[in-house]
Amino acid sequence: MTRDIAIQTAAAQYDSGRFLNDLRRRVAFRTESQEPESGGRLRGYLDEELTPLLAQWGFTCRIVENPVNGAGPFLIAHRHEDDALPTVLSYGHGDVVRGYDAQWRAGLTPWDVTIDGERWYGRGTADNKGQHSINLAALKAVLHARDGRLGFNLKLLFETGEEVGSPGLHELCSRLRDELAADVLIASDGPRLCADRPTIFLGSRGLVNFKLELTLREGGHHSGNWGGLLRNPGVVLASAIASMVDAHGKILVDGLRPPPIPESVRRALAEIRVGGNPGEPEVDRDYGEPGLTPTERVFGWNNLEVLAFRTGNPEKPVNAIPPHAIAYLQLRFVVGTNWQDLERIVRAHLDAHGFDMIELEVERGAPATRVNPDNDWVQWALRSLRETTGADPVLLPNLGGTLPNDVFAEVLGMPTLWVPHSYPGCSQHAPNEHLLGPVVRDGLRIMAGLFWDLGARDAGASNPAPHPTTLA
Ligand SMILES: [Zn+2]
Repeated sequence: MTRDIAIQTAAAQYDSGRFLNDLRRRVAFRTESQEPESGGRLRGYLDEELTPLLAQWGFTCRIVENPVNGAGPFLIAHRHEDDALPTVLSYGHGDVVRGYDAQWRAGLTPWDVTIDGERWYGRGTADNKGQHSINLAALKAVLHARDGRLGFNLKLLFETGEEVGSPGLHELCSRLRDELAADVLIASDGPRLCADRPTIFLGSRGLVNFKLELTLREGGHHSGNWGGLLRNPGVVLASAIASMVDAHGKILVDGLRPPPIPESVRRALAEIRVGGNPGEPEVDRDYGEPGLTPTERVFGWNNLEVLAFRTGNPEKPVNAIPPHAIAYLQLRFVVGTNWQDLERIVRAHLDAHGFDMIELEVERGAPATRVNPDNDWVQWALRSLRETTGADPVLLPNLGGTLPNDVFAEVLGMPTLWVPHSYPGCSQHAPNEHLLGPVVRDGLRIMAGLFWDLGARDAGASNPAPHPTTLA
């Protein structure tokens, strides 16, 4: 049996409609983790949909209750072949964001898969049911092509609370560190760089949100009689923000800037062009950190954004000096940024610039992660994708967005390879979420090739996986 057969078997599941049937059944589970009454359906997805399938493929499955009260359960599945083989951890989430049923285009519903041209509409098709379904179908193809073996050990972790911030995931992973140990994480979520470019990303930027607020007095006062006499909180807050980020998006606070972009990251990013796809806004060439390419700005640097700003009553402006102003800011950051110290850094900056009356509240944060692009696993995966597709895949040292990847990279301490099967225009988290049929088929082939190569350890293997490290 050969690599080609694994790949053909995976693609055949697409061509025959089997994959669509499986996905349709999964999308029909209304697993909206943001809705409190979804508990039973979240469990049902793990219990009724995934467990029987995995058990049939020789996985030992168990549902693990969430250590956080009221949050959805986890599924942990193991398939062990031999201690001498590499061990892979994979991850997916069974929950989806709210359906927003009424807002979908006519003829579409979030809870069934509707095909229109290349687009496969349905809630969770892109995030994340479609993506983990591709990986499961590819596993099945490899099991078939290798006569019931994978050639590696596999651990699967599914959560049901990703869309509400992954409650309990860190705690679970630290508690089960030994049980979930693996040589590498291979999972799928998020978008490719663009639809037709197979992509591997190795982590994500982090984010931290914070609020600046200034209340100077009780109510508003006539702007003619009091203008020039009373400090305007809107003006003060706008000036404070302008002291932190300039009109071209350059971050002016040293502590919020990242270290220089490492050479290996710069090299990986040099191949990549961002923007320019149909339906995307035009990139502002003169915005962001000077001296960096647009690609470096979004994948290799930090940005400080104003998400919302309010003073007075924008819906009904009146001729008054408002008493209050509030702004919600966000820092997106790469590895090496001292984000955990953000409160101290921003406070010191505000105080030093005469803005000590502004209140600062840090609301939430998520760390950044990144694997060195020169890592053996990364290079191995790039070769595998190249062999399957005949083209150079895109390598992103990290996504521009944010994933809970630190649980794998830091808590479990393994290199993390993400192979996304979605694309930037997929309307993830919005009405009309969809996958692209051709990307599904491509994803099935890519993952079958990757899983095949993981288990190809004989002398003739074209791309054997790096040697297991967990045995050391
Ligand atoms: Zn999501």
